[in-house]
Amino acid sequence: MNHSTTDIIEVAIPLPLDTTFHYRVPEGLMPRIAPGKRVLVPFGRRKVTGYILGFATGEERELREVADVLDDAPLFTPRELEIYRWAAAYYLHPLGEVIKAALPAGINVQSRRGTSTDGDAMTGGRRVLTETVYHPATPPPAVEVPRGKASSILSHIQQEGKATAAELRGIFADCAPQLRRLRELGLVVTEEREVYRDPFREESVTPDAPLPLNPGQTEARDRIVAAIDTGRFAPFLLHGVTGSGKTEVYLQTIAHLLDAGRTALVLVPEIALTPQLVNRFRRRFRCGIAVLHSGLSDGERYDEWRRIRRGEVAIVIGARSAIFAPLERIGMIVVDEEHESSYKQSEGFRYNARDLALVRGKMEKASVVLGSATPQVTTWHAAVTGKLTLLSLPERVNGLPVPHAEIIDARGKKADAILPLLADATAANLANGGQTLVFLNRRGFATWLTCEECGHVLRCPNCAVTLTYHQRKNRHVCHYCDYAIPAPSVCPDCGSTRVTHLGLGTEQVEELVRERFPEARVDRMDRDTTRGRGGHARILRKVAERKTDILIGTQMVAKGHDFPGITLVGIVSVESTLNIPDYRSAERTYQLMTQLMGRAGRGEDAGRVIIQTLNPDHYALIHAGTASMEEFYTTELAFRQETGYPPFVHLGAIYLTGTAASAVEQESRRLAGQIRTLRREAGGHVEILGPSPAPLLKLRGRYRWQFLLKAPVRSALHRLLARLRRTYTPPSGIRILIDVDPVDL
Ligand code: ADP
Ligand code: ZN
Ligand code: ZN
Repeated sequence: MNHSTTDIIEVAIPLPLDTTFHYRVPEGLMPRIAPGKRVLVPFGRRKVTGYILGFATGEERELREVADVLDDAPLFTPRELEIYRWAAAYYLHPLGEVIKAALPAGINVQSRRGTSTDGDAMTGGRRVLTETVYHPATPPPAVEVPRGKASSILSHIQQEGKATAAELRGIFADCAPQLRRLRELGLVVTEEREVYRDPFREESVTPDAPLPLNPGQTEARDRIVAAIDTGRFAPFLLHGVTGSGKTEVYLQTIAHLLDAGRTALVLVPEIALTPQLVNRFRRRFRCGIAVLHSGLSDGERYDEWRRIRRGEVAIVIGARSAIFAPLERIGMIVVDEEHESSYKQSEGFRYNARDLALVRGKMEKASVVLGSATPQVTTWHAAVTGKLTLLSLPERVNGLPVPHAEIIDARGKKADAILPLLADATAANLANGGQTLVFLNRRGFATWLTCEECGHVLRCPNCAVTLTYHQRKNRHVCHYCDYAIPAPSVCPDCGSTRVTHLGLGTEQVEELVRERFPEARVDRMDRDTTRGRGGHARILRKVAERKTDILIGTQMVAKGHDFPGITLVGIVSVESTLNIPDYRSAERTYQLMTQLMGRAGRGEDAGRVIIQTLNPDHYALIHAGTASMEEFYTTELAFRQETGYPPFVHLGAIYLTGTAASAVEQESRRLAGQIRTLRREAGGHVEILGPSPAPLLKLRGRYRWQFLLKAPVRSALHRLLARLRRTYTPPSGIRILIDVDPVDL
C-alpha cells in the first residue's frame, strides 16, 4: 500500500449528515489503520463510531484525532465500499448510515460491550454472546398499559412467559421503542442471557442429483451458463409460473458457477425463505451455505456474516438485506419473485434490493437473474426493449394447465353476500371432498367510494389514481396532487345512492360461510388469527392435513404456500386491490390474481377459480383470468405512458412528518415554494405534485404529507432531490424523508 504519505483519514459517521469527516491519526494507532475498519472519533462533545473510507491528502486545518481503532480486520472491502457509495448517492442517504445498515447489527452490539470483533472471542468454534430476554413483571405495577402495538407485545410476553428480542422482532417487526416504553413503565423486566451458538448447525439432508431438464429449462440454463462464461454482466428475466421449474434452473446454473470457482447470491422474499427452500440447496450442494433471515438474533446473523466474510460459503440465501452480504467472486445474483414489494426497504435507508442486485451484478461482472411469474411492469418493459434478456418457462413441470377464471358480475347485487355461482361451486366442491379457498383482500388502510350499482370509483382527473376519503373534511382527496372534491351522496356515474366506503371484513365473510355451510370445517387466516407464534403454521398444517374444508384468507395465503388439496378458489373482494390509491393498482391486481390462480389445482386436479367483482370489465381481471399475459402488459404500459408513470417517468417522493397535524401541513405548503425554486436552479424537467396528505395520514402517531416528483430524465430528479437534501433543514418537530423510486405510494 502507498498510503503512508498522509496521516489523515476520511471517516463516514452513521448520523444524518451529508458529509464525511477528516481526522488525524496519532502515530501509535497508525499501524492499525486500514480502510474498512471502524474507529472511535470525537464528534462535538461525544465520541462516536465511524468507518474508515480511506486516506485523505493534506489539509492545513486543525484536525481532531482518532481516539481508537475498533477492529483488527476490515469489515468491508473496496468493492463493497463501492456499492455503499453508489447506494448512498442514489438513495440520497448518508454514507455512514448506509454502511451501518449494510453491516450486521451484531457488530455494534459487540463494540458496545467493549469486546474485540475478531476471532479471539471464538471458543472451540462456538462464540459466547448475550441476548436480551423479556419477562412480564410479577406482580405487574399499577400503571396504565399503553395502547396499540405495545399492548400486543406485552400480552405476547405475558402469554409466553418470556420472549427474546429476536423472537419479538420476528413477530412484531420494529418494536424497540415499544419495548423501551414497557421497560420504563416497569411492565416488563429484562435479563441478559448468554447464548452458545453453533453457526454450523444444519439439519442433515439426503443429497440429490440434478433433474433432467425440459426444453425450456435447458434453454434457460444454457443461456445463463454461456453468459457466466463470458465473465461479463448479463441481466435476465426468467419468466415462469410457480411450478415451472425456475428453482431447478437456479440450482443447475449455480452448479456451473461453483465449478468455475465463483459464488452465488440468492435473494428471496422473507416469506418464501423456508427450510424447505434452503434444504433444496443443501441437498444439491456440499459447499458452505449461509442463510440470512429475519428470525436470526443479532448474534446469529453476525455469525453467518462472519462465515461469509471468511470465505467459508459459496452460496448465500437471504431476504432483502442479503444484497449487502460480504460474498466475494460473485458469479450470479438471483432475485426470485422479483415483483415482491418486500425487496424495498420502506424505512430508514430506503433501498430496493432488487434494483441493487443489478447494480452489484454490474460491479461484480456477474449474471443477474430476476425470476417471476408476474414480473413488474417496469421489468417486463426492460425485457421487451432488450435491456434484460427474456427467458420463458411457459409450462408447469407437471404438465397441469393453469386454470382460467370465471368472472361473476356483482354489480347491483347484494354486496355482502357470496353470490349464487360461488356458493353453488363451493357446495359442489365440498360434496366432492375438495378444499375451497375464499380469498378477500385485507381492507386497505385507505377508504374510497365505490358504487355497488355500477362499480364506479372516484379517480383523480390529473393522476388517474383513486381518490381517498377524508372523513374529517368529508372530502375525497388525491394523495398525489391534492385535488379534492366534496363527498357526493349519489354515484356521479349512474346516479345510484348505493355508494359506500365499506368493504367486507374477513370475520363477516367467515360468518356468512359458516351460516351457508354449517357442516363444513371453516378456518380463517388473516392478521388476527396468525398473530401468535406459530399461528400461521398451525392454520397451514390443518389445511395440508385436510382438516379444513373452507379456508378464508387475505393476501397472506396468496404467497408462497402450496395447497395441493385446494380445487376451488373464490375471490370475493378484488376491488380492494383494484381500487387502492396507487398507480400500480392494476399491476398488483394482475399479480395477485395470477398467484391465486396458481394456488388452485396444484394436485392432480386443474381446479376452478371464480372472481366475484363490481368491475367485471377491468383489463387486469380479464387478462389475469385468461392468462393473457402479454395483453395485460401491453395495455398497462399504454396506460403508464398516457398518465406518466414508470417506466416512462422516474418517481421520487418527499415526506414531511410530525406529531402536530397543522404544523406538518403548514410546513409542507411552505416547502412547496422552496422546491419550485430548487427546480429552477437544478434545471431539467421535473413535475411536482402536492403537497397532499398521505392516504394513511397518521402513521405511528405522526402525520404525514407528501410530494410526488416525476421526471422523464433521472438526473434532473436527482439534482433536485440532492439540492433539497443539502439545503433544507426542517423546523424542530418535523422530519423529512426522501424516497427515490418509491413503492407503495
Ligand atoms: P418454480 O421455482 O418455478 O416454482 P421448481 O423448480 O420448484 O419451480 O419446480 C417445481 C417442482 O417440479 C419441484 O418439485 C421440482 O423438483 C420439480 N421439477 C423441476 N424441474 C423438473 C424437471 N426437469 N423434471 C422433473 N421435475 C422437475
Ligand atoms: Zn354507479
Ligand atoms: Zn391527482
